[in-house]
Amino acid sequence: MATEPGCLFCRIVAGEIPATIVRETDRTLAFRDISPQAPVHVLVIPKVHLADVGSVAVEGPGLLSALLEECVVVAVEEGVADSGYRVVFNSGPQGGQAVHHCHAHVLGGRQLADQLG
Ligand code: 5GP
Ligand code: ZN
Repeated sequence: MATEPGCLFCRIVAGEIPATIVRETDRTLAFRDISPQAPVHVLVIPKVHLADVGSVAVEGPGLLSALLEECVVVAVEEGVADSGYRVVFNSGPQGGQAVHHCHAHVLGGRQLADQLG
């Protein structure tokens, strides 16, 4: 599994930094955001180090699908599938990406703002 030295989320995958894990598959990890912006705020990441969603898309068969499928399962398991939720990938400086290991935010449990940014 490709990891990036010093990458925060690679270190969470490796178990070097604690996180509240909600789901794990062979290729993905889902854990609670340390600074939740909604009652449900889970990050879903590929275990392999890929910087952003574009890198995941070109990585090869199925990884982006697996990531999105995991987001949906998280929403179901967190009880927000019916009330509604949002899946967000921030990418790059103007997209507001702070951690450069691809992650999807799964947000729900309250009425989210109409405005996206
Ligand atoms: P970005 O702005 O890159 O899309 O989102 C990065 C997210 O990672 C933020 O929502 C931030 O709260 C979360 N985060 C940063 N450091 C940690 C950490 O050490 N543990 C966890 N669980 N989340 C983190
Ligand atoms: Zn990483």
